[in-house]
Amino acid sequence: MGVIRGSFKGVRKTFVKNFKLISHFIYNAAKTHFMTTKIATNSEMLNPEGQWFGTRRVEPGQKTELVLDVFHSVARKYDLMNDLMSGGVHRLWKDRLIRMIRPRDSMKFLDVAGGTGDIAFRLHKATGGRAPITVCDINASMLQVGEARAIDRGILHNLDWVEGNAEKLPFPDNSFDVYTIAFGLRNVARIDNALKEAARVLKPGGRFFCLEFSHIDNPLLARAYDAYSEKVIPRIGKAVANDADSYQYLIESIRKFPRRGILGKRLVAAGFKGAKVTPLSFGVVAVHQAWK
Ligand code: SAM
Repeated sequence: MGVIRGSFKGVRKTFVKNFKLISHFIYNAAKTHFMTTKIATNSEMLNPEGQWFGTRRVEPGQKTELVLDVFHSVARKYDLMNDLMSGGVHRLWKDRLIRMIRPRDSMKFLDVAGGTGDIAFRLHKATGGRAPITVCDINASMLQVGEARAIDRGILHNLDWVEGNAEKLPFPDNSFDVYTIAFGLRNVARIDNALKEAARVLKPGGRFFCLEFSHIDNPLLARAYDAYSEKVIPRIGKAVANDADSYQYLIESIRKFPRRGILGKRLVAAGFKGAKVTPLSFGVVAVHQAWK
C-alpha cells in the first residue's frame, strides 16, 4: 500500500513539475507570438501607401522615383491640365483653403509639394507680399515652372523655391507658423514620415493644412465621378499632354489615399492636436487641419 502511495506521490510531483514547465513554455510562446504580431501590425500601419504606385505594388523608394518621373513628365502642361480636368474648380478649392488659413503678414509659411506655386501665389497676395513664403518640392521641373510663373507675376521678394522631400524637409525644427500641402500628400511615399516632418518644422502652436482629393459619400455621385475619372481624365491627358499613363496614376493615387478622418488619426499619431476635416464639393476634396 505504502509503495503504491509513494509512487502515486512521485507521479503527481512529476506531473506538477512538467505541467509548470509546459504552461511556462506555452505562456512564453504565446507572449512572443502576440508581441511580434503587435509590432508587425503597428509597423504595417505606418506608411501603408508606400507599397503602392497607383495599383502597382512597389517599394517606397521606387514609388518616390516613379512619382518624380510623373511630375517631370507633366510639369510643363500641369497648370493647363489642372484647369481642364477640374473645369477650373481647383482654383475655388485653393481659394477656400487660403480663407481657412486666414493668413497674416506676421506669419512664416511653408508650402510643401508646392509644385508650380498656386498656393504660394495666393498666400503672397493675401499677405500683400509681406510674409515670407517657402515653396518646397521634390521635383526640379515643377519648381522651374513655378519660378518662371513668379517672375511673370513680378514676385521677386519673400518667395523662396527649395528642392526637398516632404519626408525629410531641409529646414530646422520649429521654424514655420503655417504648413500647407495641396494635392501633394497622396504622392508622398511615406505619408506618416511626412506628417512627422510637418510637426517637426512647425513652431509650437503652428498650423497644418492639407488640401487633397477625398471620397464622395453619395453612391450615385461617386459612380458618376468614377466614370469621369476613368474615362475622361486619361483621354484629356493623352490629347493635351500626350501622357495618358501619368494621369492614370493620378486617378489611382486618389483611390489609394486614406479616407476622411483616418488622416486625422494619423495626424494625432504624428504629434498634432485638434485634427479636423472639412469636405468640399460633396467630398471630392477635403481639407484636413491640425495644430502643433
Ligand atoms: N501643390 C501644387 C498644386 O496644388 O497645384 C502641386 C500639386 S502636384 C499634384 C503634386 C506635387 O507634389 C508635385 O509637384 C510633386 O513633385 C510633389 N511631390 C511628390 N512627392 C513629393 C515629396 N516626397 N516631397 C515633396 N514634394 C513631392
